[in-house]
Amino acid sequence: MPGLEAQIQEIAGLLTKARTAFALTGAGISTESGIPDFRSPGKGLWVSTQLMDVLTSEVLQNEPERFYKAAMPLLAEFAAAEPNPAHRALAELERLGHIYGIITQNIDGLHQRAGSQRVWEVHGHLRTGSCVCCGRKQPFARLQKSYEEGEIPPRCPACGHMLRPDVVMFNEPLARDFFDVHDLLYGGCDLMLVVGSSLTVYPAAGLVTLARDLVIINLQPTPYDEQARVVIREKAGEVLPKIVAAVRDMSP
Ligand SMILES: [Zn+2]
Repeated sequence: MPGLEAQIQEIAGLLTKARTAFALTGAGISTESGIPDFRSPGKGLWVSTQLMDVLTSEVLQNEPERFYKAAMPLLAEFAAAEPNPAHRALAELERLGHIYGIITQNIDGLHQRAGSQRVWEVHGHLRTGSCVCCGRKQPFARLQKSYEEGEIPPRCPACGHMLRPDVVMFNEPLARDFFDVHDLLYGGCDLMLVVGSSLTVYPAAGLVTLARDLVIINLQPTPYDEQARVVIREKAGEVLPKIVAAVRDMSP
């Protein structure tokens, strides 16, 4: 097993040579920002089973108050989180031209807030909510404010129907971003840098099969480890800044 330093050099080499590289990120990149990973053992699993029952379009439609009381405290926690060194390092890799963009399973918006420009959010995001009837969008902060003021569910100011967060619920198809990026990857992807995803949530996880080379940085093993050129089981916030430094050293 090669040492961490050699692995970092290898990843930097792959990034430097790749014509089109993408990053694919999951909950693990945001745990260092204080956001719980629902699919990790412990507290996560409990939260997950609770949420999977509640965060569905049926519950939203039939029991909106139950939906909002389960979802809102958690979503508010997500919306208040700050980017960490891993998010900033990926933004830097894009700025330097070593990754084309980021595909994320996260809804927290931390990549954009760290400065990333091209981000495909396959599970939606927390910047807006929309009316279930007329489709008009509202800032997510407005949904939060209504909720805090006791308007549960929050209502559309235009037509009075219920507002929903623009996140993909457990029983819903993925966001448009998924299909857009799927087509892009089909056009050619030399390298996929997976960060903080256990690659168990489909169909998003299946995107890695469209890349020629795979690099995985995740604390736990994934089903794709054997296919990966490099696997690092360390914290992304510690490893990614080192990869940026190594890439800089290699650049002329
Ligand atoms: Zn409306």
